[in-house]
Amino acid sequence: MDITDMAQRICAGERRALARGITLVESGREDHRAQATELLAAVGKSKEALRIGLSGTPGVGKSTFIESFGMMLTGQGLRVAVLAVDPSSSRSGGSILGDKTRMDLLSRDPNAFIRPSPSQTHLGGVARRTREAVALCEAAGFDVVLIETVGVGQSETVVAQMADLFLLLLAPAGGDELQGVKRGIMEMADVIVVNKADGDLKATAIRTQADYAGALRLMRKRPQDPDGYPKAMTVSALEEQGLPEVWETMQTLINWRRENGFWDQTRAAQARYWFEDAVKTALLAQLESPNARAALAALSDAVAAGAQEPGAAAAAFVRELHEQA
Ligand code: GDP
Repeated sequence: MDITDMAQRICAGERRALARGITLVESGREDHRAQATELLAAVGKSKEALRIGLSGTPGVGKSTFIESFGMMLTGQGLRVAVLAVDPSSSRSGGSILGDKTRMDLLSRDPNAFIRPSPSQTHLGGVARRTREAVALCEAAGFDVVLIETVGVGQSETVVAQMADLFLLLLAPAGGDELQGVKRGIMEMADVIVVNKADGDLKATAIRTQADYAGALRLMRKRPQDPDGYPKAMTVSALEEQGLPEVWETMQTLINWRRENGFWDQTRAAQARYWFEDAVKTALLAQLESPNARAALAALSDAVAAGAQEPGAAAAAFVRELHEQA
């Protein structure tokens, strides 16, 4: 498909074109990369969707939450896209969203678009492509883009670099497990949601929520938060309890950030981050050219033999790289 045509179809909200566009940005092939760059330029800057990062350990109820929450949003007439950053996807060769039984209702909803995560070994690569997929979903007119990740630490950091709001999903747990959530992840969260507040687990969930609310109050106030944020709440994704409250809490926060300049500020900082990331990637790719590899190998041998100082050899290499370019 012609890239201009694809861009137009994506902007018109055609799902098939969007799916193909995402396949293009996910591709590792060099010619595809060039086309992907062209596509992203062609769709241009569009309406801004609300990008929600969602993290939680396996089993905490992420897919159940996304299904219930997503259905609630589409029920309000909003269009919802779900993407995933899955650093562990290489393990299964599939993806955390690859299982067809997950989000069964949402996946059949015409106002929802669910995309399994790209299977890639390198987290940085997956993150970049997910960010580009987010941009395409925005171009396709989605109102909300949910970016799911498994709670393993590093992936939250990259999701935070592409989300307007970060939601951490937790399970009801005893007090000592509070320590188990890494401080860095707590500090990233805008809303902590304790799931499974139903049946036998309800009392524990409420206690857990209170523990986290206490822990959040002890943290340094962030400039991008109104009073009372970050918040801890309880929901039951399974019984669809507490979801409107979570949505309202998010909207209050986002409206405040928009009015106080933090929305634009965050997006600008994120754009800088991805620009620098792309520069680094492009520079690293230069190292892979046959000429660069040959020069590197020769200088590396010279260094190993003691014929050249590492620093001097590196400077010589960089000079040579520039001359080749
Ligand atoms: P994920 O691995 O984080 O995506 O978790 P899943 O959504 O697959 O849920 C893991 C298990 O927890 C499943 O058996 C769900 O039915 C269950 N679960 C999810 N949400 C709730 C909830 O709100 N209440 C209860 N009781 N169970 C839940």
